[in-house]
Amino acid sequence: MDTTKRINTIYGNWLVLHPQGFEMFRCTTKKAEFYLKNNLANIVLENPPTIKLTFSPAGNGWQGDIFALTQKKNICVVCGTEELDRLTKHHIVPTLYKKHFPKHLKIATSHDVVCICRECHDKYENTYALKLKEKISEQYNVPLWSSHSDFIKIIKLSKAYVLNNSMMPDERKLELIMKISLMLGYENDFAPIEEIEKLSKISQKDYNELHSSHGKEVIAKVTDIQKFVEMWRLDFVDSMKPKFMPQYWDVYRVIDRPRKALKIK
Ligand SMILES: [Zn+2]
Repeated sequence: MDTTKRINTIYGNWLVLHPQGFEMFRCTTKKAEFYLKNNLANIVLENPPTIKLTFSPAGNGWQGDIFALTQKKNICVVCGTEELDRLTKHHIVPTLYKKHFPKHLKIATSHDVVCICRECHDKYENTYALKLKEKISEQYNVPLWSSHSDFIKIIKLSKAYVLNNSMMPDERKLELIMKISLMLGYENDFAPIEEIEKLSKISQKDYNELHSSHGKEVIAKVTDIQKFVEMWRLDFVDSMKPKFMPQYWDVYRVIDRPRKALKIK
C-alpha cells in the first residue's frame, strides 16, 4: 500500500452532495470509497467525482461556504511544488494551542491547515513560528517548555479503538475513528491507522514528558481567539509570502461557524 501518497494527499476533491442535492463538503477518495462501499452514497458524476449521500446526515455540512466547497490543489502553498512525497500539512495555528480552543471552535479548522513541503515547513517552524511562540510566551507570561498531561482523551480514544476494534460494531468504529481523526486535525480524511496505533501505545509517563502545558495556559488567558488565529495567519503570510494559498483563503475568516461533524445514523 502506498501510504506516503495517501498521507500526503491533503485535500480530497470528491464533492459530496446532500440527499436533497446541494453541495455539502469535499472528501478524499478513501472516504468516498468508504461511503460507496457501505451504500452510504451513490455516484452522481465520474468527472468531477461527485457522490450523493443516501442517508440524512445530522447537518448540512459546508452548504453555501465557497471556501470549503472549492476544489483545492495538493501543492506547497509557499514554493508550489506538487511532489506528493515532499508534501505535508501545516497547521497555521499550532496544535499545541488549537487543541485547547473551546470545542465548537475546534471542529471547522480545515481553513487553517494548508499543504506545504517539508522544506518550507521546517523553515517556518524553526524560525518564524518559534519566534512567535516566544513572543506569546512573554506576552502571556507562560513558559514555553514545561511538562504537563493534557492529551489523555485522545490517547484513551486511540487505545479504545485499537484494543476493541475487532469486537466493536461498524457504526461505533466509524464514530470513533471520525472523532479521533477530527481531534488530530484530519477534517476530510481518516487519520492514518499507524498514527492511531502509535498514540494507543503511549504510556501516561511518556506522554507527560512529551507535552507542554504552555498551550493550555496561554489559551486560558486569551480573551479573543479570533484575533489569536488571525495573528498566526498573518504571521505565516507575512513571513513566508505564500503564492499558492487556496482560493478564497482569508486571514479574517470567522472561525466560529456552525457545522456539525457528519454522523452516520
Ligand atoms: Zn515548499
